[in-house]
Amino acid sequence: MPENITHDTVILGSGCAGLTAAIYTARANLKPLVLEGHEPGGQLSITTLVENFPGWPEGVQGPDLIENMKKQSIRFGAELRLAHLSSIDLTKRPFALNLGKETIHTRTLIIASGASARWLNLPSEQALIGHGVTSCATCDGFFASGKEIAVIGGGDTAMEEALFLTRFASKVTIINRSEKFRASKIMLDRAIAHPKVQFLSSTVVEEVLGVEEKDVKGLRVKNKVSGQAYVLPVAFMFLAIGHIPNAEAFRGMLDLDPEGYIQTRNNVFTTLNGEIIPGVFACGDIQDRRYRQAITAAGSGCMAALEVEKYLEEYGR
Ligand code: NAP
Repeated sequence: MPENITHDTVILGSGCAGLTAAIYTARANLKPLVLEGHEPGGQLSITTLVENFPGWPEGVQGPDLIENMKKQSIRFGAELRLAHLSSIDLTKRPFALNLGKETIHTRTLIIASGASARWLNLPSEQALIGHGVTSCATCDGFFASGKEIAVIGGGDTAMEEALFLTRFASKVTIINRSEKFRASKIMLDRAIAHPKVQFLSSTVVEEVLGVEEKDVKGLRVKNKVSGQAYVLPVAFMFLAIGHIPNAEAFRGMLDLDPEGYIQTRNNVFTTLNGEIIPGVFACGDIQDRRYRQAITAAGSGCMAALEVEKYLEEYGR
């Protein structure tokens, strides 16, 4: 059914930032509408144990944390809807959001659409996504049972996924393109200590083998220092090489940095050509290249919600 109401606030994204913004704006009686987008629950929903979210001394499963945040926001009146943003017009007020079959209107907007997994972009990798190439260890780990596998990346995500995958795989090789690992010491030490985990540094993947068979048969890799190329016999390749911000819909409408993240001022205010766009706020990984933690995303979601309240108090509902 097409809507003819104007929302006080619409939140794009249902990860940690978006749901925290939903809890706060719902408790302020603003009845937020949360559009869940193409990755409902965000990155926490495809992770495993989160050990550094304050208040959980034994850790908490990422999907459970997200589910609890959803319930908490709904309890105070938030509405969550599965919808994709086709286009948006920020030049007229109220703002118009085109969702394909319908257009909705809102006085304020909180952009919390996060970032999506990065791929190597090799043709052979793209051809084998879903056939042994994946970016989701929690989703696909079980299928690697008893197999030798590779994890690509050298950050905390790569260490976390490699350790998780040791539950299933017989051997996990972490392939890092650089000599130095970006992972925190505690995560790196854990991976080093695990008997099933092996490391290849200064090594790049040149081709995923098995395109004809539609099943990963190995990786052709190359050591960047020695120049030596060889085949690593693995049955799965798990990507853990960071993320790309989901901000393309805002190109030309908001200031983005060279890597496509939304540039914010005073934490959550958006700008165009350096001028603040009143009523449009960004929070979480879509505007954070530095911290990228669940707790910092939640914190910025809270800030965005408080700014929405202040904006509506000042300019009216
Ligand atoms: P990250 O720290 O940015 O690391 C990305 C890794 O991927 C780097 O090793 C990078 O190599 C590599 N990489 C990037 N593009 C590549 C390409 N095209 N080909 C090959 N390798 C490529 O990303 P992350 O590990 O996803 O972590 C993101 C943030 O989340 C960090 O702040 C991290 O601390 C946090 N995090 C925390 C936890 C935890 O505390 N439990 C768990 C997961 C993530 P180079 O170094 O050569 O660029």
